[in-house]
Amino acid sequence: MKIIMLGAPGAGKGTQAKMLSEKFNIPHISTGDIFRANIKNNTELGKKAKTYMDQGLLVPDELVVDLVVDRVKQEDCTKGYILDGFPRTIPQAEALDKALAALSDKVDFAVDVEVPDENIVKRMSGRRACLKCGATYHLEHIPPKQEGICDTCGSELVLRDDDKPETVLKRLGVYHEQTQPLIDYYKKAGILLEVDGTVDMKVVFDNIVSAVTK
Ligand code: ADP
Ligand code: AMP
Repeated sequence: MKIIMLGAPGAGKGTQAKMLSEKFNIPHISTGDIFRANIKNNTELGKKAKTYMDQGLLVPDELVVDLVVDRVKQEDCTKGYILDGFPRTIPQAEALDKALAALSDKVDFAVDVEVPDENIVKRMSGRRACLKCGATYHLEHIPPKQEGICDTCGSELVLRDDDKPETVLKRLGVYHEQTQPLIDYYKKAGILLEVDGTVDMKVVFDNIVSAVTK
């Protein structure tokens, strides 16, 4: 099963992608996590990506597309994968379609997790992330067992630089301009599933699972 997660920053794509990845036993591929790991390891890609991410802008397509296309060709992706945060532009979606078509393959579902802008800033200021393993928490909705510490790997949890309110507003603007057109793109392709992302995360999850296994 090959699934793309769509939705505004903070809509819950990563939260759902992780649960889906565990349920279907397929990799969760988050381009944001890949960039953050590169930033942490101070790689050339990380240095380049950081200049865009810190401003709430998208990293240029040419730095993202090959990375994802190479990743989905790896052995562990043969049964499927969950793409979280990619594609984010029409050229990225077209490049993915083209690369998959060359392998006689295609995406099965694009899941749009719908959350209005008003809820997003609040969600993002409460998000706490583990930069080591990629786990995500929320101070109110999904708190870690021990304050400030990742349940999964014991590392320190942080407020991402790009989750500060002024950057979130910028990212929302970028989302509406560059990423939202993908909803129409996948609707036309006949693979769009729209789910309400404002309800409890377990309910969101059940709704996605029932739609993709119908
Ligand atoms: P995205 O990957 O779309 O940027 P995340 O999955 O990181 O979003 O979720 C953003 C924040 O909202 C996190 O702090 C997460 O714990 C929280 N969250 C995710 N889903 C829900 C939900 N259904 N209700 C409330 N909070 C949620
Ligand atoms: P995320 O963790 O998905 O919220 O991504 C964090 C940041 O990484 C985004 O605001 C972008 O700057 C960058 N990024 C992640 N995925 C992509 C992508 N597919 N295209 C361009 N930039 C991306």
